[in-house]
Amino acid sequence: MMKRIPEPFRIKMVEPIKMTTLADREVALAEAGLNPFLLRSDDVYIDLLTDSGTGAMSDNQWAGLMLGDESYAGSRNYYNLCNAVEHFFGYKLTVPAHQGRGAEQILFPALIERMRQVRGGTTPVFISNYHFDTTAGHIELNGGKAINVVDERAFDTSMAYDWKGNFDLDRLVQTIEEHGANNICAIITTITCNSSGGQPVSMANMRAVYEIATKNDIPVVIDSARYCENAYFIKQREDGYQDKSILDIIREMYQYGDMLTMSAKKDPMVNIGGLCCIRDHEELFQAVRTLCVPMEGFVTYGGMAGRDMEALARGLYEAADENFLHYRISQVAYLGERLREGGVPIQYPTGGHAVFVDAAKILPHIPPEQFPAQVLTNALYLEAGIRAVEIGSLLLGRDPETGEQKKADLELMRLTIPRRVYTNDHMDYIADAIIELQNRAHELKGLTFEYEPPVLRHFTARFKAL
Ligand SMILES: *Cc1c(COP(=O)(O)O)cnc(C)c1O
Repeated sequence: MMKRIPEPFRIKMVEPIKMTTLADREVALAEAGLNPFLLRSDDVYIDLLTDSGTGAMSDNQWAGLMLGDESYAGSRNYYNLCNAVEHFFGYKLTVPAHQGRGAEQILFPALIERMRQVRGGTTPVFISNYHFDTTAGHIELNGGKAINVVDERAFDTSMAYDWKGNFDLDRLVQTIEEHGANNICAIITTITCNSSGGQPVSMANMRAVYEIATKNDIPVVIDSARYCENAYFIKQREDGYQDKSILDIIREMYQYGDMLTMSAKKDPMVNIGGLCCIRDHEELFQAVRTLCVPMEGFVTYGGMAGRDMEALARGLYEAADENFLHYRISQVAYLGERLREGGVPIQYPTGGHAVFVDAAKILPHIPPEQFPAQVLTNALYLEAGIRAVEIGSLLLGRDPETGEQKKADLELMRLTIPRRVYTNDHMDYIADAIIELQNRAHELKGLTFEYEPPVLRHFTARFKAL
């Protein structure tokens, strides 16, 4: 059995969580229309819906809140944040944003404008290993096209491969040729690759992507929600990096980009916050700042309070601590190992922030249009009060032209682990519950809509059992 890595912190303050009975949970889930998104969090014992904004800040971060300088312009916390950014990424120009999508909404229109004005393109295209959903959303809202070219091995959950977040470099080159380099607004390197399961991108792949981009005069944006977890995987898995520090690995990764967007709600462990940083391109920086003022806030706070910028500046240091990362990634891997030993099929190897359970394999009798991963998620809630989330056909939605339900490549239940929040005993509890559930999976029945909203339906849909 895999060794448990003890937590590199002790607990100074606790937040009680409610223990519920099966009868309580049956009532709560029925009221929520069999959709865990509609549960009250008070009715959840262990909440694995997301790792976004759910991390626990440290005493050092909380102390930073007391040092907030809430001046409208030129807050000292903004300059602390700029210094931390320059220390880790080597990027000189920083615009704070209220969260990751805030950074996207001020950067992407500026990149599209540059593609038209400076590079002479006409039809905006972005290429990524895999666009996060809000990232693709902001591109499409601005009239652009978002194309994913992740390595196909990402879609084979049982195949062990170290770099399931990598770009397929041949498809990257083909896609550039097909659309014309001057129409490509940017290449977006997402580290780790959230959509393939928190899977890492290798340094070699990041370097190759940057070479291809530079040759074609295309800027590279690093989508940076989980950059420290990516750096840790590189240290563990890639030849030549075992003796490098996490700081050195981060600095090298960011040489293979020209700018970054960041949801600081992930690795840097703040409850809200984001960043848009640019290496040295003053003109683009001015364009982004111009959009920042009406959309996020004045350029030295961009939607964040001074105190929150201080907590973020401190979080950037804590997120890159190697002892912390060792514990963090090992905790997720431990949960994955326990499940595998119990015969539960998962995306393997496990990613940085979540374990993805292959619901299609556990529930072969439930077809995609009856949402097997949602069925499993509901059963897990009833079994143990654990809230996971469906990543499958329900999330994917219908074909906008035919109205047919699209069939996802994978029907996954995501167990997303918040940072510094749950203990290793909680991991054992989660594993035991899922293994138990798998033994009676054949009894579970499919779902159909009682109410299906026209857009972003997974958030507010209501279901009935078939
Ligand atoms: C969460 C996330 C975003 C969006 O960030 P928010 O803070 O949720 O707005 C963008 N990209 C990736 C890879 C993410 O995981």
